[in-house]
Amino acid sequence: MTKEEIITKDKDIHAFLEVFDGSTALTTSGPLSGKTIAIKDNILFEGHKVSAGSKILENFTAPYDATVIKKLKEAGAVIIGRTNCDEFAMGSSTENSAYGVTKNPHDLERVAGGSSGGSAAAVASGMADLALGSDTGGSIRQPAALCGVVGLKPTYGRVSRYGLIAMASSFDQIGPFGKSVSDVEAVYNVIKGEDPMDSTTQEFPISNFQFSKKIGIPKNFVESEGVSEEVKKNFAEAIEKFKSLGYEIKEIDLPNIQYSLPVYYIIMPAEASSNLARFDGVKYGLHKDGENIIDDYFQTRGEGFGLEVRRRIILGTYVLSSGYYDEYYGKAVEARRLITRELRNLFTEVDLMLTPTTPSPAWKIGEKSKNPLEMYLEDIFTVHANISGCPAISLPSGFAGKLPLGIELTADLGREDNLFTAGKEFLNEPY
Ligand code: GLN
Repeated sequence: MTKEEIITKDKDIHAFLEVFDGSTALTTSGPLSGKTIAIKDNILFEGHKVSAGSKILENFTAPYDATVIKKLKEAGAVIIGRTNCDEFAMGSSTENSAYGVTKNPHDLERVAGGSSGGSAAAVASGMADLALGSDTGGSIRQPAALCGVVGLKPTYGRVSRYGLIAMASSFDQIGPFGKSVSDVEAVYNVIKGEDPMDSTTQEFPISNFQFSKKIGIPKNFVESEGVSEEVKKNFAEAIEKFKSLGYEIKEIDLPNIQYSLPVYYIIMPAEASSNLARFDGVKYGLHKDGENIIDDYFQTRGEGFGLEVRRRIILGTYVLSSGYYDEYYGKAVEARRLITRELRNLFTEVDLMLTPTTPSPAWKIGEKSKNPLEMYLEDIFTVHANISGCPAISLPSGFAGKLPLGIELTADLGREDNLFTAGKEFLNEPY
């Protein structure tokens, strides 16, 4: 598609905040040559605007390339534009963007998911071959599921976060969207790797553990309250499909995985409140004059940040405040360790864990935006991967009416290869 064709098509969907001019490819013979890729509006691309979906960064220009952008250019990819997202990646529907909501290409009255909703919608509607998003608690996998595409959150430390506008640094990972597992794998192979600019990146030696086609299902967890009937039915069909492909399905019990959501919603705001302290009206973006310097901060942050971002800063400051620190933040960190141990232990018995990606298909725009708790509950099946650092992929698994659904596979640290093998088999892709 040409730039004009994308702009015309995007009038209905609003996946893009900006479509770029010209090609960025540095080679015509790289692994991604000729492929178009859209990038989430929180990844720095030198000389281009980047706003993280926020008014506070309106008209801010990226002063350097994120490591992933450098790698994409060297691989021959054509970066075609920046995509809409929830403000500072906080949300599950792209409704928290300061620049309007992204619509689901399968039903324009419904959300595309979030926070990387623009990236998912750009791929689902054919405006981009590929896209990058960021995933702190599900923001790649959830919109991928709701838009019917493939989305991968790599192992924590696999992909450099240098040049990603931080949300919660111990959870954030950049990852790809594509129409197939092979496409996602190709982007992953380009962007992964150790980076001196991000000290949390590391190589993960491939263990000798053979892929034994064993999948664990946390049955009680999947049958939690609030999971829709359509999702349960679709999930049962996915299990049958894996069985027909020769997989052994084991029911498993992870007693603590149910605490992933409360753990996430304590640690995430704590880290986010600290990361967002840098937006003081002096160093970046918006500046508002107050009566004195402290008042400048109040004015700038009060006007520049949207409601959800302010809510999380307040929540994060609260759980970190003396007197509450041990009770909330300290406890959540302990529980995080427990959940991680439980999950990693599981991977000595099975190769993969299977769950639905989301508890329901895409909802109507506005339906959940008045109730933050209802929105947070959408993340029930995705946050365990960020808490533990484990890689996870969402695969399209069918439809509820015209609305796509997704299933999610989680693997042990560094075992993206298992996700790709099982994912390709599930989608009948050659490998
Ligand atoms: N929906 C989750 C949240 O609102 C996840 C966000 C993300 O992964 N960036 O925090």
